[in-house]
Amino acid sequence: MRFSQFASRYQQVTGTVQLMEDLGHAQRAEGPVYMLGGGNPAHIPEAEALFRTAMANIVSDHGAFGRMVGDYDAPQGNAAFGEALAQLLQKRFGWHVGPENIAITNGSQSCFGLLFNSFAGEFPDGEFRKILLPLTPEYVGYSDVGLSDRPIFEGHKPNIELLPNRQFKYRVNFDDLSIDDRYGAVCVSRPTNPTGNVITDGELQQLAERCEQAGIPLIIDGAYGLPFPSMIFTDATPLWNNNIVLCLSLSKLGLPGIRTGIVVANPDVIALIRNANAINSLAPGRVGPELVRGLIEDESLLKLSNDVIKPYYQRKVNHALAVVKQEMADLPVRAHRPEGALFLWLWFEGLPISSAELYQRLIDRGVYIIPGHHFFPGFEEDWAHCHECIRVNYAAPDATVETGLQLIAAIVRDAYATAD
Ligand code: PLP
Repeated sequence: MRFSQFASRYQQVTGTVQLMEDLGHAQRAEGPVYMLGGGNPAHIPEAEALFRTAMANIVSDHGAFGRMVGDYDAPQGNAAFGEALAQLLQKRFGWHVGPENIAITNGSQSCFGLLFNSFAGEFPDGEFRKILLPLTPEYVGYSDVGLSDRPIFEGHKPNIELLPNRQFKYRVNFDDLSIDDRYGAVCVSRPTNPTGNVITDGELQQLAERCEQAGIPLIIDGAYGLPFPSMIFTDATPLWNNNIVLCLSLSKLGLPGIRTGIVVANPDVIALIRNANAINSLAPGRVGPELVRGLIEDESLLKLSNDVIKPYYQRKVNHALAVVKQEMADLPVRAHRPEGALFLWLWFEGLPISSAELYQRLIDRGVYIIPGHHFFPGFEEDWAHCHECIRVNYAAPDATVETGLQLIAAIVRDAYATAD
């Protein structure tokens, strides 16, 4: 079979492919498996109960069920959902948004390709612009979406602030950062996957101002953020204005199976998404928006996020940190201060093997993590740090997290002990 040049984009097993494939392999593996890879959220009973009741109400209503599964939605996405979310954002945050500022996509992952390739790459006048990632490590899912032959990302090295209790925090190195029209847009995930970092209000404000001055948009990926699922453990204020493209998702509420992403942006960006939805998939899915619309209207989704989901992950992260402290006391390990999302980012300073090799050794013992080097899109510098970190998803049951971290400790200990 002969494939075109275009197919070469899909013929490689990239970091994103690897991590999603791992989820499937782990489900079919024969021995014991400790799944601390992937980005699957936990199955939280209260969340599942709320969604099950909402779904049962729809299923028992003939008209509502018929519309949910039997009608294409508009290409911009469900209008009633857009209305409900706009009202929530106005009421909660005072943002001047209406339904014309909201579009639905089939998972937020599917909007990144469109956004990044619309703001970066070749321009009609021959200019080439990139997407600036001002704080790498950054989400692996961005890496492979560029359609240009040339790399479209530029990753920026962070400052590392060492903290007590063997923690650290990445901060944007503003001294070394100029935001200008060499870039088509700037993008940050907040909270950040993989590190659990929540860039501060000050950092975000500064990025937003510099983007406005440069006349380029700021893309904020809030898949774990506000207003839902609210997996943020620090004080953080959400930010939006006409120059900001905010990407939200229903996935981390516990609904990754229904593939619903949301973009909040100015109407020009929304029009692009609407047209791309129509061209690529006729319409975005309708199940997610129909399922949660009522929960947005009566604010039970916010209550769930703040009163159930956030404390759930806070407890999980404290547990994971306690296990690291106990099991890795003798190792040169630091954890990024976990301020949100569902990951521990562990840095083994001077690790004598690469994180890719560590990943392989861990797989052999049934432990799935994501090696750190995948999370440096657009980063060209040869920085040992990129190969000394791993991402651990702590959403798994406590016993899995405990045994997984014990095995990681044992294998890392062995790597240090047997180094030449
Ligand atoms: N953004 C971040 C930072 C993520 O971690 C993920 C998934 O793990 C996504 C976006 C994409 O989520 P989805 O496509 O399920 O909405």
